[in-house]
Amino acid sequence: MTDSADGSAATPLSAPDLATLQSHFVSILESVPDGMIVIDETGLILAFSKAAELLFGYTAKEIIGRNVRELMAGRDEINHDQYLRNYLDTGERRIIGIGRVVTARRSDGTLFTIDLKIGEAKIGDHWLFTAFVRDLTDQRRAEMRMREMQSELVHFSRLSAVGTMASALAHELNQPLTAVANYLEAGRDLLDLPGDDKREILREALDEGARQAVRAGDIVRKLRGYVSRGEIDARSVEIGPLLDDATALARMSMSSSDIPVVLRIAPDVGWVLADPIQVQQVVINLVRNAQEALASTASPKIQIGAQLGANGLVAISICDNGPGLDPDVKNTLFKPFTTSKSGGMGLGLSICQTIVEAHGGTICADLAPDGGTCFRFTLRSDPAIHTS
Ligand code: ADP
Repeated sequence: MTDSADGSAATPLSAPDLATLQSHFVSILESVPDGMIVIDETGLILAFSKAAELLFGYTAKEIIGRNVRELMAGRDEINHDQYLRNYLDTGERRIIGIGRVVTARRSDGTLFTIDLKIGEAKIGDHWLFTAFVRDLTDQRRAEMRMREMQSELVHFSRLSAVGTMASALAHELNQPLTAVANYLEAGRDLLDLPGDDKREILREALDEGARQAVRAGDIVRKLRGYVSRGEIDARSVEIGPLLDDATALARMSMSSSDIPVVLRIAPDVGWVLADPIQVQQVVINLVRNAQEALASTASPKIQIGAQLGANGLVAISICDNGPGLDPDVKNTLFKPFTTSKSGGMGLGLSICQTIVEAHGGTICADLAPDGGTCFRFTLRSDPAIHTS
């Protein structure tokens, strides 16, 4: 005999009778948080829980006695009877005890994604199957949102890097450029003065002006490094999923998603040492540039490739079949403020170069085989994991 919480003696449970079991089962159907559907071996629905009613939009009364196929979509809907027969004939488990993510159909015909788990019970000569259904719509939506947010983050970090760089540049360059202007003006005014004794002062003014101009150049170089200043969080990253993600993010932010992006990753590329967010930024920049270059190409196409290169490097390429590089920008592509676009900042490729070089790689552009442009960059492969 057990003592209850208030100290009084509790009566032991006797073996439950059928009626007790039945009401217990009904209470389970009422309260189980996942949708619960019990079917017989021909697929007919015998029980349908409260949560299943909410998920599928049927009342238990409406759906009991109908084939569970009606809650399915696609190949499952067509083949479910056959699945059941196969299992009863062969005992081969395809889903029972394993679980799967499948598409389900609501009473109004709309489809949604569920996580499906199935248990079985043999009662006498007959089988009963119990399905537990969890709606993944919210989870999927949250995942989508996460991806969107990540994409926004990458975009935002690019914008903020550009913004920071531009305002820092304006501020820092103001002083040396004003000084250059002052020295030049002073020099010009000196030339207008009579007498020969001004040569020395003129030389000093020009020297100082030149020094300030060099300083301005240093500031630009330093600021370029600032964009990804030592903030590389390089770790071992598998290149395939990294490029998959970057392509998905780039596709999401493309104004025209009609441009096919083909991904070709050699099976032996394996792992690289990289900061995934920064490498994604490089890929997104290059894919966006390719997309912009393809604006008036008849059958536009972007190809992303990855293969093992020399010296333990992985070579990544982003090629398009656009018009190729404008000869005016060809030689200064990676220098800040090089652009052929009316609204361009000319900072994207310079940021890409900074990131790639901070990773110990190099970046270059050449002519694609079909006349477009190929950007290629390298990352260090991670041999430790690569060979395992
Ligand atoms: P922006 O895109 O702001 O101009 P970038 O540094 O990203 O700055 O690019 C610099 C220039 O490089 C572009 O203006 C364009 O002329 C050229 N360019 C970049 N990618 C391509 C490409 N895929 N095809 C042709 N030209 C390109």
